[in-house]
Amino acid sequence: MKVVAATGNLNKIREFKEILTGFTILSQKEAGFNGDVEETGTTFLENAILKAKAVADCLHVPALADDSGICCDALGGAPGIYSARYSGGHGNDEENNLLLVKNLHGKDHSAYYYCAVALVFPDGRVLSGEGRTDGYVMEEPIGTNGFGYDPYFFSTELKKPFGLATPEEKNSVSHRYRALKELFSKWEEL
Ligand code: IMP
Repeated sequence: MKVVAATGNLNKIREFKEILTGFTILSQKEAGFNGDVEETGTTFLENAILKAKAVADCLHVPALADDSGICCDALGGAPGIYSARYSGGHGNDEENNLLLVKNLHGKDHSAYYYCAVALVFPDGRVLSGEGRTDGYVMEEPIGTNGFGYDPYFFSTELKKPFGLATPEEKNSVSHRYRALKELFSKWEEL
């Protein structure tokens, strides 16, 4: 089955392809969608549905979107849905990470990644799933694997930083993998 990934984030598309090996995943750009969908939702799930619906409606194909982020208990769940633009509008990973470490200074560093995924069909049907993975934010980066907050995230589930985890290791416990697993477990509801 062919699915368009409703995202401009190449790292998310790479992980979709690693996890969904039985599917042909096209980026929204490859499929001809050049729009920019405003994330006006108040939850990960609302934003995922919004993004997938925009692409499914425009291209008349099934579209898969992910809305995800890192949530810190000591910061009341922040940055959460604002993870991509935590340090300002441009989504600079290094600045986001430095601000997060600064804001956590002297506080509990517990954190989890959260992901909501939505698969929206051109006829309006929606399948969704959500997942999380637990760990803590380190003061200094370790490793260069992954993307976004990964170099600063220690996975208590893998017992190693995501920055040192192979794609297979990260995908075995990741929020994205778990959200996709939940979504596809509902396939018969279609
Ligand atoms: P979104 O496009 O609003 O879903 O932005 C998600 C943001 O959360 C990304 O830009 C990253 O900063 C962060 N994020 C989500 N998933 C991951 C992950 O698997 N690793 C590292 N950072 C992530």
